[in-house]
Amino acid sequence: MKIKKQKLGLNTVCTHTGEVEDKQFKGAVSPIYLSSSYAFEDIDEKRYPRYFNTPNQQALCKKVAALEHTEAAMIFGSGMAAVSTSLLAFLHKGDHVVLQNALYGGTMNLVLEEFDKYGIEYSFTQSLNIKDFKKEIKKNTKVIYIETPSNPLLKITDIRKVAKLAKKHDLVTMIDNTFASPVNQLPATMGIDIVIHSATKYFGGHSDILAGAVAASAEHMNQIFQLAKNLGGSLSDFTVWMLERSMKTLGIRVKEQNKNALKLASFLEKHEAVENVYYPGLTSHPDYELAASQMSGFGGMMSFELKSEYNVSKFFKSLQLIKPSMSLAGVESTMLSPTQTSHALLTPEERKKQGISDGLIRFSVGIEEKQDLISDIKQAIKKSKKK
Ligand SMILES: *Cc1c(COP(=O)(O)O)cnc(C)c1O
Repeated sequence: MKIKKQKLGLNTVCTHTGEVEDKQFKGAVSPIYLSSSYAFEDIDEKRYPRYFNTPNQQALCKKVAALEHTEAAMIFGSGMAAVSTSLLAFLHKGDHVVLQNALYGGTMNLVLEEFDKYGIEYSFTQSLNIKDFKKEIKKNTKVIYIETPSNPLLKITDIRKVAKLAKKHDLVTMIDNTFASPVNQLPATMGIDIVIHSATKYFGGHSDILAGAVAASAEHMNQIFQLAKNLGGSLSDFTVWMLERSMKTLGIRVKEQNKNALKLASFLEKHEAVENVYYPGLTSHPDYELAASQMSGFGGMMSFELKSEYNVSKFFKSLQLIKPSMSLAGVESTMLSPTQTSHALLTPEERKKQGISDGLIRFSVGIEEKQDLISDIKQAIKKSKKK
């Protein structure tokens, strides 16, 4: 794919690229165009919200494409609309897709619950090692799908090696770049074809928007568009406008979250109650070198395990500042127990196989003062020690 070299710096793109100019009143922010009907300018250029081409949609797509260094982008009604439309646009009856084994739960459900109906074959890799991707490629493989860093253990997939392997076999590559965000990771510059986001997370950043985004070459984007207009997963222009507003601070939010997370991970690693910390920015992380080679920052997501002498439920109840919550990537810090929430439906054996222990806690680090977060965790740990 042609990489669009960005002339402007990150925070300038966040603030200025892709705005609807207010020609009439010269307002500082984009006006919202809510029309669902537009007079034809050209019979081939019909404007309609479900065609992803309202003024606000088109403006925001420019911002996303600029951030991901791609030619084009699209905004969707949810992260899963972005994931499902992208996959189904490139997979037809009889085709095969290789997916990495550690994936967002919703993506896993899409594959396991829906793909058989459409006659799409799939394999999950044994590990994130490139050898295991190679092993799963078949004659009818069309797509390789990865997600890095992964949820909830922050495992790292080698983006460049996957892209190279795919090129050799003429396959389309897709990445879920939600956890890293373009602030920390630019997969298109490393050879990945299609970059997918749950914009509900860092793009939105304030836990008040459900949205998705895809960035790719104009050609790949057009193939996704041809399906997207039939599936109908576009986002309302009100929410598009809110998302544009949120993304102005994407750069400063995520950089602050990077800094906080690294401090918090170092604190947790040294704490006597903590068994393990999974954060790619720690030199103790098994994939630290790989992460450092493909990420410019390590993100705001981490996981850690409390030792068995500590009661996880009691720990959650004792937190005062940090909210126990499913959501992630907001400006507020949140935590959850995968065993009690996202992975509750798995058997204990299945969880163990995935490396998810009962003491595991996923931590989405916000922008609060790090000292306040540390104090909150310290007091909650103290209260959760088993007698
Ligand atoms: C939340 C999430 C999704 C799904 O996004 P929705 O906006 O909830 O549809 C996909 N991938 C990752 C990594 C996520 O965290």
